[in-house]
Amino acid sequence: MSNYDVDLFVIGAGSGGVRAARIAAGYGARVMVAEEYRIGGTCVIRGCVPKKLYVYASRFVDDFADAVGFGWSVPVPPAFDWTKLVASKEQEVTRLSKIYAANLERAGVQMVESRAEIVDANSVRLLKDGRTITAGRILVATGGTPVLEPAVPGIEHAISSNEVFDLKDFPKRLMVVGGGYIAVEFASVFARLGSKVHQVLRADNVLRGFDDDMRNGVRDALVHAGVEFGFGTLPTRIAKEADGLHVTLRSGEVCVVDQVLVATGRRPHTKGLGLETAGVELDAVGAIKVNAYSQTNVASIYAVGDVTNRVNLTPVAIREGHAFADTVFGGKDVAVHHAGIPTGVFTTPELGTVGLTEQEARARFDVVDIYSANFRPMKATLSGSAERTIMKIVVDGRTDVVLGVHILGHEAGEMAQLLGIAVRLGAKKADFDATMAVHPTAAEELVTMRTRSARYERDLAQGAPAKD
Ligand code: NDP
Repeated sequence: MSNYDVDLFVIGAGSGGVRAARIAAGYGARVMVAEEYRIGGTCVIRGCVPKKLYVYASRFVDDFADAVGFGWSVPVPPAFDWTKLVASKEQEVTRLSKIYAANLERAGVQMVESRAEIVDANSVRLLKDGRTITAGRILVATGGTPVLEPAVPGIEHAISSNEVFDLKDFPKRLMVVGGGYIAVEFASVFARLGSKVHQVLRADNVLRGFDDDMRNGVRDALVHAGVEFGFGTLPTRIAKEADGLHVTLRSGEVCVVDQVLVATGRRPHTKGLGLETAGVELDAVGAIKVNAYSQTNVASIYAVGDVTNRVNLTPVAIREGHAFADTVFGGKDVAVHHAGIPTGVFTTPELGTVGLTEQEARARFDVVDIYSANFRPMKATLSGSAERTIMKIVVDGRTDVVLGVHILGHEAGEMAQLLGIAVRLGAKKADFDATMAVHPTAAEELVTMRTRSARYERDLAQGAPAKD
């Protein structure tokens, strides 16, 4: 038993902090966790969980339309009650937050509802009551906060993903700024729920970093859902007027909307935590620098999750928190590997992906084979929906190893989870081919794509190397 008040003090009860606290307590450590907002963190309270609930809510619009082709009569137009959705979401989020708290309590972790700031390498001050707690190890798991950029005049009238879930009034006219995960997901949700969505972004396409064919597919699906895009443009001014927010764009065009949702990225939440005083090194964007074991340059201080800006995804934070506890309190060295992480973007249809994009593969490998399919999902035959499913397998042409798989379609996130296992195991395209199809499914396309894509064949015929 150490002379410290606790063996581990965790700042932040989000995905990473809670997991680390529970696992460390399971190894017998005396653990205290401080949280200044609500237990569960961004993912549970104002991120992944409520987002997915709103995605489900939005997809009923498609279901009502599809149902008619299958013989159903549906009242036109079906009525939607935003206030009811917000209240139901709140109930579920509260339930989950309580479960998180109960799990911590059951594990013997002490919870404090307070902001905590680091005093030095082994002590933390609780702002609520001014107490100083000494700790053998300190884990910073404070996540990130949305940035409101560009910082144009009137930006204070805009909201971030923190506020969008709980808007009192449904935004009939919504401007979304940005083209990343959050921007496309909310554009898709609100367009389906009935908003007139105008999405503006500085780039010429959404989802930078994803496979180009998938980016085009997401863009087209959003346009089909009614989203009006402004590429290569951003607001220059937002003014609050009696009839709504007047947003002036670079072109001089003025859009009048009820809300402006800014989704131009998130920043590590490191300000005012006492990190500088304790001598903890931060990088240029303010993220905590850590090694493969999530340890900072101050030996007793560790950090996991978005605050380290490695890969900003909930399952990654959880894995980092778990690995930290295993390493520091469980006696086994566990480093987290950040390659080949499957991920989903919950537009409709959704995007599921793992591994290298075609563009990344072509830059790294000299022979790249592409297998792709673009088809109308079976459900769309009777419903008459214009939805397309796009699938793409990226293969190292020399070894036959599958480097990446990308899917835009129904339940693509679910497929990406399982494909993540295959890609991790180093599956070859021949393994996909040797796997029996599940029929009739969309996923069977993944094991029945026999022909390299026409574009690839065309490139070869024109004498172009597979590498661009
Ligand atoms: P992203 O990094 O995904 O996207 C940021 C967007 O804002 C990009 O379109 C980017 O443009 C643009 N942008 C960045 N800075 C500026 C600026 N100064 N002015 C104008 N535009 C700018 O961030 P998000 O906010 O969408 O999401 C934050 C993180 O949350 C993601 O990285 C992801 O890790 C996580 N997340 C994951 C989800 C999931 O797993 N489904 C869902 C939601 C969030 P450009 O492309 O030109 O750089």
